[in-house]
Parts: sequence; structure tokens; C-alpha cells
Amino acid sequence: SVMSSEKDAALAAVPSDSPTIFDKIINKEIPANIVYEDDKVLAFRDIAPQAPTHILLIPKVRDGLTGLSKAEERHTEILGHLLYIAKVVAKQEGLEEGYRIVINDGPQGCQSVYHIHVHLMGGRQMNWPPG
Ligand code: 5GP
Repeated sequence: SVMSSEKDAALAAVPSDSPTIFDKIINKEIPANIVYEDDKVLAFRDIAPQAPTHILLIPKVRDGLTGLSKAEERHTEILGHLLYIAKVVAKQEGLEEGYRIVINDGPQGCQSVYHIHVHLMGGRQMNWPPG
């Protein structure tokens, strides 16, 4: 990408209900390094990893869930499943010493892809607070 940073990408992204690059990954139209898949969730390695392990977990059906701020009561099951599978994948990745879960929302939250996703990051000491 020609973007100089994730923040630039996030600020350039227009929040919308249009299809995203993640639909192409779900449909296997573009490759991704998939680490977990079931009927509801896909998990794959981030193309620009910010930690030794950096995985994105997404619902296969977006159902209006462009971001967490769009969550409705009907989404509670998939939201719970995403978090539970984040734990399953963390264990699969051997992140015994801990890890970080992040959901960026909207421009100020540095969201750049408008298909909800959970970041799972680990394999190094994380810092707090995040930037
Ligand atoms: P956000 O900034 O919206 O929270 O996170 C979007 C993430 O998607 C970024 O970490 C970015 O590196 C990742 N990403 C964007 N496009 C692709 C892609 O085509 N493939 C993969 N594997 N990750 C992507």
C-alpha cells in the first residue's frame, strides 16, 4: 500500500455498507493465510502484522455489522462467537503468556475496513495505553 500508516488508511476510509476486501477473502477470490474457519467465522493473518502473531477474526456474513457501533441485539451471538474463537485461536497459536484483543471502530478508532473484525495480537510484550 502507498498509505504511510494505518492511521492514514483509517482516515481515508469512508464508512459505508459497500462490500470490502474481506468479502473477497471470504469468497476465496483473493488469498489469505487462513488459520481457522467454521460456518460462521473466518480467521486469517493480517497482511501488515503489528506483532509476531496478528490475526483478524471476521463473521462470514456481515449482516449490517460494518463495525461494533452498528451492533444490534441480533448480533450478540456472533459477537460472542468471535470473542470465543479469538481465545481458541490464541491457544492454537501458543500465546500462553497473553495477548491483546482489539476492535477498532470508526475514524477516531482507526478502523479502515468496514466489515467488523477482531484483532488478535501477541508474541511480544504489548504496551498500554495503545496510541
Ligand atoms: P482496522 O484498521 O480496520 O482495524 O484493521 C484492518 C486490518 O486489515 C489492518 O490491520 C490491515 O493490515 C488488514 N488488511 C487490510 N487489507 C487486507 C488484506 O487484503 N488481507 C489481509 N490479510 N489483511 C488486510
